[in-house]
Amino acid sequence: MRHRIRRALVTVLLLGLTLTAGACGDDEQSSEASGEKLEVGTTVAPITSIVANIGGDRVKITGIVPEGTNSHTFEPKPSVAELMSKLDVLYVNGLKLEEPTKELAQENLKEGAEVVELGTKSIPESEYAYDFSFPKSGGKPNPHLWTDPTYALKYAEIARDDLSERDPDNADYFKANYDKFEAKVDEFDKAMRASFATLPREKRKLLTYHDAYAYFAKTYDWDVVGAIQVSDFEDPTPQEVAALIDQVRKEKVPAIFGSEVFPSPVLKQIGKEAEVKYVDVLRDDDLPGKPGEAEHSWMGLMHFDYVTMTESLGGDAAALKAFEPGNVAPDKAKYPQ
Ligand SMILES: [Zn+2]
Repeated sequence: MRHRIRRALVTVLLLGLTLTAGACGDDEQSSEASGEKLEVGTTVAPITSIVANIGGDRVKITGIVPEGTNSHTFEPKPSVAELMSKLDVLYVNGLKLEEPTKELAQENLKEGAEVVELGTKSIPESEYAYDFSFPKSGGKPNPHLWTDPTYALKYAEIARDDLSERDPDNADYFKANYDKFEAKVDEFDKAMRASFATLPREKRKLLTYHDAYAYFAKTYDWDVVGAIQVSDFEDPTPQEVAALIDQVRKEKVPAIFGSEVFPSPVLKQIGKEAEVKYVDVLRDDDLPGKPGEAEHSWMGLMHFDYVTMTESLGGDAAALKAFEPGNVAPDKAKYPQ
């Protein structure tokens, strides 16, 4: 990270280091050239993607939570400790989403390395959402801030500032990436609002299996009328199912939404009995496509969800479809599958 002063006398001992370092004074790409990239760990894939949009190819990013697993109950294998010991920083969501991963990190991070909670730093505790799936009595707030682009942008801002502090030589690069990301998120936000405006207000209702849209709903003027998944990630009781069927009928929602990560026969049953469309493809932390593809990004994920919601509820998602989601910097992060 620090500029090295090249010495005239290069000893055999230093030769290997100099060959890889190769950096002269004010070369802006010193850390890339030196092979001394920051070692960054991340947890869920959307966070990995957001951090990659800022860090680009000047930091080394390794995701920890495999895509398609239940991130709420995920426990890292003991072998992840070795990765932890090499990290300069671990970015997690926080709001109690990744407690076992955080614990393992705290036991294994090297001196000076830290856990940074992007979500926890983005919102005051007084604005935490608690609900059916994340009841206050359980002590874990709804952690899904990143499905709301305004919070995702805060994550990016915190990552920019933190990366810049740890790697000042690349601060300009991180800032330039953030600026591009902000502009693109802005455009995305406009496309979302234009598409949602095609839905009458009373149709902007979400009944989901996995309750990942609490903050989004507040920002974009939607109602989360219910969530089916109970806080221990088991299926709801028959009484709860019956109550939900009544609620779906009463709310007159045209569609209810399942999650691709949590296939739910119960939600299917509710859809059938309440005679509404059952859409089971929403995702909150499993990115679409494959690593390396544009849609395999935080923005690709949210774009997919918001097109799906708009269309399933009878709206016109043309504005969203005219927008092309993707990354603003090369995404070289490792996404465990
Ligand atoms: Zn989730």
